[in-house]
Amino acid sequence: MGQFTGVLQVPAGLPVHELETPTLVVDLDAMERNIQRMVALAARHGVHWRAHAKMHKCAALAKQLIDAGSRGCCVQKISEAEAMAAGGIDDIFISNEIVSASKLARAAQLAIALRQRGGQLAIAVDSLQGLQALASSVQQATSNLPDTGPMVDVLVELNVGQNRAGVATPQAVVVLAQAIAQQAGLRFAGLHAYHGGAQHIEEATARQQTMAAVYALVKQTIDALQGVGFSGFTVTGAGSGTCALEAASGLYSELQPGSFALMDAHYTRVESTVGQPAFEPALFVKTQVISRAAGHAVVDAGHKSHAIDSGLPLVWNAGQPPTLVFGNGGDEHGLIHAQPGAVLPELGQALWLVPGHCDPTINLHDAMVGVRGGLTQGVVERLLRIDARGAIW
Ligand code: PLP
Ligand code: MN
Repeated sequence: MGQFTGVLQVPAGLPVHELETPTLVVDLDAMERNIQRMVALAARHGVHWRAHAKMHKCAALAKQLIDAGSRGCCVQKISEAEAMAAGGIDDIFISNEIVSASKLARAAQLAIALRQRGGQLAIAVDSLQGLQALASSVQQATSNLPDTGPMVDVLVELNVGQNRAGVATPQAVVVLAQAIAQQAGLRFAGLHAYHGGAQHIEEATARQQTMAAVYALVKQTIDALQGVGFSGFTVTGAGSGTCALEAASGLYSELQPGSFALMDAHYTRVESTVGQPAFEPALFVKTQVISRAAGHAVVDAGHKSHAIDSGLPLVWNAGQPPTLVFGNGGDEHGLIHAQPGAVLPELGQALWLVPGHCDPTINLHDAMVGVRGGLTQGVVERLLRIDARGAIW
């Protein structure tokens, strides 16, 4: 009797056509082309990039991105930071606020551990209260250590129009930066100015207009910080939808996009702006037709296989416009319809879906199967474990 192990068993060298379904697959060649596109963008504008690991949650991928030039990685949560550190990543920016004392205690321990390995932890703050909680955690954790200077880099988050986290004004950034500078355990490292909503504005002109207002505010903030004597600080932000704009703005010194490496169906609909790299889908759910009716086919991938918050998956047609349309069949099924003139797939046939949204799709899986040589002729090269799967606390 075959035994359920709970672990995806896929040997290296397995031909792609033998992969069971549904399986989350990374086209490694496509991903590496995307990474090189980011390398070229950053080089063209002389900026750093720090790929966001909230998207892939995989230490091996974070490492591959760093080897390609990413300055460490970003994460959103302390648990993600711990997972990346356990996987060997030494330079981590938690691009989010943490205010719980127990999490801040873990952050302080992580900062010490990273420092011992020659690395660095950075965290975003947007309140004096949060800053004071961070400062006392770091003070407590380091009180028995020899004084090695500031242990944690702190970036002040500015609300640049998304109306999520972040302080409201350049003056409020200055107040926090000065408060950070007064804490022995902390270093004011810069400005975190990220507009999440703008990434996903599909129409290019509307996205550019939104970002123009962001840059005006960021410029005022840089001027205000320089006006009171700060210099050499990082200005970080940008996701996969706007990174070419931040890169060209002359204001940002670091880009923090995540999705570009694997992409998703939503991002394929975001209209390009000048200089925007042509990132291509590299993340797929391989699925199979398990039932056929006269007018539709049923596949074995539903929303346990892929997140649907940004829309349903695209049925991949080798880079050509899709001829098959995925309809919601619930959490275990997809309903495939053919466009006029197209032929429905046969029972047993494999289809490749491009998920609507990469981050929450990946968080549904234990591993991604890394494939080399394409989706038809390729073979499995390696399994990419989702180390921080479910690490959302
Ligand atoms: N930076 C922050 C703070 C984010 O929240 C995100 C994603 O949500 C990113 C960067 C990366 O954005 P994307 O994956 O769209 O490139
Ligand atoms: Mn996302």
